[in-house]
Amino acid sequence: MHTHIIPKHLPDWTKKFGYGDFIFLNHNDNKTADMMQGGQFFRRIEENCWDENIRITEYENFHTQVQVVCTIPVMFAYNAKTKDCVEMSQFLNDHIADLVVRYPKKYIGLATIPMQDADAAIRELERAKSIGLVGIQIGSNINDENLGEEKFFSIFEACERLGMAIMIHPWQMMGFDSMKKYWLPWLVGMPAETSRAACSMIFSGILEKLPKLRICFSHAGGSFLPTLGRIEHGFNCRPDLVAIDNPVNPREYLGKFWVDSITHDIDLLKYILNMQGSKRVCLGSDYPFPLGDMEIGKFIEESDLNPAVIEDIFANSTLEWLGLDKKMFL
Ligand SMILES: [Zn+2]
Repeated sequence: MHTHIIPKHLPDWTKKFGYGDFIFLNHNDNKTADMMQGGQFFRRIEENCWDENIRITEYENFHTQVQVVCTIPVMFAYNAKTKDCVEMSQFLNDHIADLVVRYPKKYIGLATIPMQDADAAIRELERAKSIGLVGIQIGSNINDENLGEEKFFSIFEACERLGMAIMIHPWQMMGFDSMKKYWLPWLVGMPAETSRAACSMIFSGILEKLPKLRICFSHAGGSFLPTLGRIEHGFNCRPDLVAIDNPVNPREYLGKFWVDSITHDIDLLKYILNMQGSKRVCLGSDYPFPLGDMEIGKFIEESDLNPAVIEDIFANSTLEWLGLDKKMFL
């Protein structure tokens, strides 16, 4: 339920809009392309980032039939002018919607929306639903503002009303500039970002006010679940700081949101299954990026987990999160 895809060719948005450092793809050959950001090299990607058939074959190598695809967070463009972010979002969403139409049993699509403008975000959310996408992927912060801020509430309300699922993905990691060495933004910043998003949404009361919202936190919820004891203790010992907008203990929300399985550690996955229940843990890969679970679910398949638990992780949890029926894929 957590894979990234990008169209093979992107417009030169920086040139078109006349500002910014939007991602552009420089193809080296048919096999690799360099993501360029404002003329600077950002990341080299391979053909499995855009080639729909290679992706299907690589998934079949690990007995996985369906991919939930969304864009790469660097494409969010939350700091662009709203109209430009709308244009980019529509381009990316149309690409994914087309893929879903052509391969309905292989691909499920999540949209990206202009979170910097709630009205525009809701319009694109409605449009995304109308073209067959079943949810959205959003960042763990929006231009460094937390998801619990009042300005984002109407977007979450619209997601609940429309039945659109939400995946929260870490990005623009806190402390990025001060810890670039050793890949620390990815190893330390990303798990913290996801916990930041979960804490902000819980403490601000979003999950209390919108109980039907279907949210999934990436990378097994980042550091949120492993540090929940500390978070709960903070809630109890300093309610004057923590419980100011929502009086409900954060532990009460276990099993009310989803997380993916990307832990690279069967013991941690078991701990998370104990907290969340198997129906709230979905098989995620972060494909096709090397920090993901590139042997899609193999460590789960080879574990001593109960087959019914594995079946939940491999299919049922994701279907319930997205509000889809297994029959659609048979
Ligand atoms: Zn990812």
